[in-house]
Amino acid sequence: MSRAQTFFLRILPRAWAVSMEAESRAWMARCETCGSERSVWDLGGIRWKAAGNPRRWLGCPSCGAPTWHKLHKKGP
Ligand SMILES: [Zn+2]
Repeated sequence: MSRAQTFFLRILPRAWAVSMEAESRAWMARCETCGSERSVWDLGGIRWKAAGNPRRWLGCPSCGAPTWHKLHKKGP
């Protein structure tokens, strides 16, 4: 876990922390170069109470370099 994740899990009430982690795991970041997907949580990030499908400049282990990633929420 990243420092930000550890920090928020420590300061938030338990119910919020659970909700934050579940929602961050539901948000997927897809590499626009190779198409590989990981959850925002696995990337050490947090995305909570958020909407929209922004792009993020993130390191991609498949490409071995930072690339553009499109964020989208999985599930219904
Ligand atoms: Zn990639």
